[in-house]
Order: sequence, then structure tokens, then C-alpha cells
Amino acid sequence: MAVLLRNPKISIKSFSSCISRNFSGTTLNSEIDLKVPSFLSKNSLLRRQETKEGNVQWVFLGCPGVGKGTYASRLSIFLGVPHIATGDLVREELNSSGPLASQLKEIVNQGKLVSDEIIISLLSKRLEAGEAKGESGFILDGFPRTISQAEILEGVTDIDLVVNLKLQKEALLAKCLGRRICIECGRNYNVACIDIKGENGNPGIYMDPLPAPPQCVPKLIQRADDTEEVVKERLRIYDEMSQPVEEFYRSRGKLLEFDLPGGIPESWPKLLEALNLDHEDKCSAVA
Ligand code: AMP
Repeated sequence: MAVLLRNPKISIKSFSSCISRNFSGTTLNSEIDLKVPSFLSKNSLLRRQETKEGNVQWVFLGCPGVGKGTYASRLSIFLGVPHIATGDLVREELNSSGPLASQLKEIVNQGKLVSDEIIISLLSKRLEAGEAKGESGFILDGFPRTISQAEILEGVTDIDLVVNLKLQKEALLAKCLGRRICIECGRNYNVACIDIKGENGNPGIYMDPLPAPPQCVPKLIQRADDTEEVVKERLRIYDEMSQPVEEFYRSRGKLLEFDLPGGIPESWPKLLEALNLDHEDKCSAVA
């Protein structure tokens, strides 16, 4: 693989305990390096990745439906690091019989954001469980989603790279409405065929549906928050609460902007290229 990965500055365990401690308002662990990086161009950002050893600590940003989960999970297999999606953690909790379940269901089904306190607690638990299994490095998907979450994260560890996936709003809505999930294997599929013509100098986009294999077809469900009304609210909240996070990382020279050129067959090789990852491994690493 072309990218040499780096040793994380702190272990996942100390990350998870620091993240909880920092959130509860006490001081940061002094052993953590809080350096703010100087501005780096896209190319120097990627050159920086090449010189590292250890595991990546990456974040995926982007509007609901853009495909963060799809590309983050593929990359996690490719790079051998866990893909941690806070939306999955929230859904696991709301489907459990835990004390937060009904409160979370109400918030998520209205398209609102869960409180930072709950998200940090779910993320800390997930990181601790990973640490116990020997995991290191991560690709975070859906976190941070607010400036305060980004500040907390910055206070406890050094994020190497933030990938900002971009797609036009019309396609995002269609992708969310067409999304189907297999309740057994958890994989995401899509019934939407997106064909948006370019106009007024804006490029068009074509995305084939992503059909489920026969064994998943009888087990497909739609997310309760993938209705038109709720998706529009989630997109509005993204613009209000999460878009500023893009600028947070842009100003620190960590943001890699990636406009999706189409569906997975067109986008995956281009994303690997943009990340300066070795194309030779891409077919064998990801089914
Ligand atoms: P997602 O699967 O990323 O679309 O997340 C589903 C829902 O989980 C979101 O609409 C929020 O209600 C909640 N959620 C996930 N991640 C976060 C986060 N970092 N902060 C607040 N709420 C979140």
C-alpha cells in the first residue's frame, strides 16, 4: 500500500477516557499534543500522510445521503482500521431496551441532532470496546457534527485528514429516499436511479441503483428518518450545525474536498487516487 501509516499519538483507550473527561469540563491530559498545524495545501497534506507509520485517524464529513458510510467502510477495509459511524451507534442504542432508547428515537425521527453528551458517551464506549479488542486508528463517520464536537475531538487527539464528500442537494434527497438496509447483514443498497441533467454551467450526475443481492431482498427496510420531510430537516440542520465544521478543518489545512463524480464504480477509484492510495490493492481489498 502506498500510504505509510503513522503511530497514533495516543491510544484509543486514552482517547476515550480523555474525550469523556474533556467533555465533563475538566482539564485536558497534558501528555496530549495540542499543536495546531500550519496551513497545508492538498498535495502537501497527502504527502504528509505518506510519511506516517501506524494507523490513520480520519474523519468523513458530508451531508446526509452523500455516501459517507459507503466510502468510509470501504476505506476501513482497505486500510485495516475500524469504521466508526455515530449514526450506527445511535441506532443500536435506540433499538435496545436501554434507558435512552425512546428519547433517541424521538430525536432521530425528527431529524434533529442528539446532544453532544450522549454522542460522546456512545463514542467513548465504542472506542473502549475497540481498544479491548486491540483496535487502533479509526475512520469516524458522522462525528464531529458540531463545532463543539470538533473542538472536543481536537482537544484529545490529532486528526490526520478530513474528507469532505460533496454531491448536489437534489441527488442527496433522492439517495436518502432510495436507501434500503438489510436488517440481517446491515449493508446499504439503493433503489434510486439518479440522472440529473447539467444546467446553467452546473454538471449533471448519473448514479445507477445499487441493487441488493437475492438473499437480502426479503430483509430490506427503510430508515425511519429517510422520509422526505425528515431528510429535508436533516439537510437544513447540516447546513446550520455541521457545515461550519468543514471550515473548522479547512482553516487547519486538514480538509480534502471530494466531489463525487457518480456512483461507486466511478467514485471509488477517483477517491483512492485523491487520497494517494495505491490502486493495485483496491480490487482485492474491497469486494
Ligand atoms: P446518520 O446515520 O449519520 O445520518 O445519523 C443518524 C442520526 O443520529 C442523526 O440524524 C442524529 O440524530 C444522530 N447523530 C449521529 N451522529 C451524531 C452526532 N455526531 N451528533 C449528534 N447527533 C448525531
